[in-house]
Amino acid sequence: MTRCYIGLGSNQADPTAQVHAACAALACLPRTEVAACSSLYSSAPMGPQDQPGYINAVVALDTELEADALLDSLQQIERQQGRVRKAERWGPRTLDLDILLFGNVRINSDRLQVPHYHMHARAFVLYPLAELAPDLQMPDGTPLQKLLQDCPRGDLQTLTVFIQQPDAQTGLTPNG
Ligand code: ATP
Ligand code: CA
Ligand code: CA
Ligand code: CA
Repeated sequence: MTRCYIGLGSNQADPTAQVHAACAALACLPRTEVAACSSLYSSAPMGPQDQPGYINAVVALDTELEADALLDSLQQIERQQGRVRKAERWGPRTLDLDILLFGNVRINSDRLQVPHYHMHARAFVLYPLAELAPDLQMPDGTPLQKLLQDCPRGDLQTLTVFIQQPDAQTGLTPNG
């Protein structure tokens, strides 16, 4: 089994639902188990600013798949969730699934660069990753905590699930 980390992002067609559906789809991959999911985060778009903000998360997977087969599976999930590849770089999308880390393996092929080439500069990747694996080291030995020190949170927000508390006086929750 290889422990890998997948970065999820969506800013179209109910992004929160897209991310939840993607987690469920990842859990259904063959020879693969979801070990943990981060909280959901919101972030401002990278690149073109004429698009909605993003919902992001990171998922930890344990898989027996090879990295190439994993990428095939991720791209299939993207397509199932309506991802259409367009010329515009970093344009709006229903779902983006990036392999951030694949064990301690380094890959530089035509279609796959692992660790993800730009993760060190992306708060929406590093902070959810740190939630799952605060003591992680990159394959080159750099501690994740060092990357966090060099990458301010900016406008990244952790979304907390709001659980309705009973009203102190009536003991009723809103909406009954
Ligand atoms: P960025 O890669 O900067 O996050 P993006 O996610 O919008 O941008 P995509 O259009 O989703 O880019 O992917 C372009 C190509 O990146 C894919 O076809 C894939 O072959 C390649 N790629 C290289 N390394 C990875 C990786 N670690 N995870 C996912 N795709 C990768
Ligand atoms: Ca645009
Ligand atoms: Ca991406
Ligand atoms: Ca991608």
